[in-house]
Amino acid sequence: MWAALSLAGVKAAKLVYVIVAWQLIYSTLLLIISKMGRRARIALAREVLEREGAVCFECGYCLKSLPDKYTCPECGTSYEKTALQARWLEWMGMKSLA
Ligand SMILES: [Zn+2]
Repeated sequence: MWAALSLAGVKAAKLVYVIVAWQLIYSTLLLIISKMGRRARIALAREVLEREGAVCFECGYCLKSLPDKYTCPECGTSYEKTALQARWLEWMGMKSLA
């Protein structure tokens, strides 16, 4: 009986060890992914600011040299630069481009 109990204890300890190990791996992966996402968002925000918000919200095409109200030549989405700027500012959590 004692042997069976201690065997159950060893099994439970192994299970706890596996759960803790997986949680460590999982949280480390989440941290790496969120940092990668953050870097990508910063890079995109920098590009959008350089182009004064004239970047297609759907495909990322630069619309700076195009008319204020037109359709994106890359994906065909219609845009209006002022509305686009407002949308990018909201995405970046900013109030103005200045
Ligand atoms: Zn587009």
